[in-house]
Amino acid sequence: MAGIYLHIPFCKRKCAYCDFYSIANTKLTENFVEAICMEIESQKHFLEKETIQTIYFGGGTPSILSEIQIEKILNTIHKHFNVGKKNEITLEANPDDLSENYLKAIKKLGVNRLSVGIQSFNERDLLLMKRKHSVNQAVTAVKMAQELGFGNISIDLIYGLPDLTKKKWEENIDKALNLNIQHISAYHLTIEPNTLFQKMYKSEKLNLPTEDESLVQFKMLIDKTAKNGFLHYEISNFAIDGSISLHNANYWMGVKYLGLGPSAHSYNLTSRQWNISNIHEYLDTISKGKIPFETEVLTQNEKYNDFVITSLRTMWGLNTEKLKMKFGEKYEKYFLSNSKTYLEKNLITQSENNFTLSQKGIFISDSIMQELLYD
Ligand code: SF4
Repeated sequence: MAGIYLHIPFCKRKCAYCDFYSIANTKLTENFVEAICMEIESQKHFLEKETIQTIYFGGGTPSILSEIQIEKILNTIHKHFNVGKKNEITLEANPDDLSENYLKAIKKLGVNRLSVGIQSFNERDLLLMKRKHSVNQAVTAVKMAQELGFGNISIDLIYGLPDLTKKKWEENIDKALNLNIQHISAYHLTIEPNTLFQKMYKSEKLNLPTEDESLVQFKMLIDKTAKNGFLHYEISNFAIDGSISLHNANYWMGVKYLGLGPSAHSYNLTSRQWNISNIHEYLDTISKGKIPFETEVLTQNEKYNDFVITSLRTMWGLNTEKLKMKFGEKYEKYFLSNSKTYLEKNLITQSENNFTLSQKGIFISDSIMQELLYD
């Protein structure tokens, strides 16, 4: 069992907060599709003979690709990999790309999960973030997809935005829940380098919420989604039962995956590799029959660190029996002794051999995990 991730590095324009690798230009999409199909073929042995359970079109903005281009990519994957019959094929999409004809076409191609980049149900916030769509377009796109039979829809939301009041955030969550979607990914805004928000932040044009206000927003999200039957199964992810993102859950469970396209990462249990984050160099190298990636073989410490980070992110948590089986007693002792302070502060909770982050702990998960890593 394994997954394939395809990074589609094009956007209509750059959003103010985003540092994912993409270019705000769509002229190279045709060349890119040719190149990624060549990459699929040349990487056909990376996952050995594993059955592909999940395919994930991420980006950038995958819905910029035409249905014909998506078909070409999927056909190439089917030609070179064994895709399981029970599969999850996700397409990240922006609301302004989702026409009725497009939705019908991608559904026919086997796309059975949509991840719609809504981010906010507030027009002012959408403008501030430089999103291309309106609230109305977002709502219409989701409803249309539902009418056409998409039964597994995720939406992205951002909290911790400038001037985001408790009331405004509550309205956002309510609007999301009213859409009867199956999954929500909600991220706290971070000011990333080389983004418009970073410039605005430096010139003091952003009125960001305090840490306490952000915590209130996060708690509200957890409470409201729980009341509506959503499982908080990963730090930023909420799903109704049966709609957990298989692709993402597999990442956290340490399942192998192959990443294709500029900046995409791959993992096969022993090594990690990542493609160059530059579309021009990517196209150029592929045209010469090579793949522009760097690779590193993981040490035992790095494998342990990955295990800690990925396990603790999820509601299933970290099981110390499993840890001992995989890495031995030395690492188990290390984890147990380092997690003690967090248990005492109720930032981590323990149930038999299972350790999970508490609600308080989730909010400072990065610093907790940092302390649990093996140097
Ligand atoms: S948020 Fe999405 S649409 Fe906006 S720039 Fe980033 S990848 Fe592109």
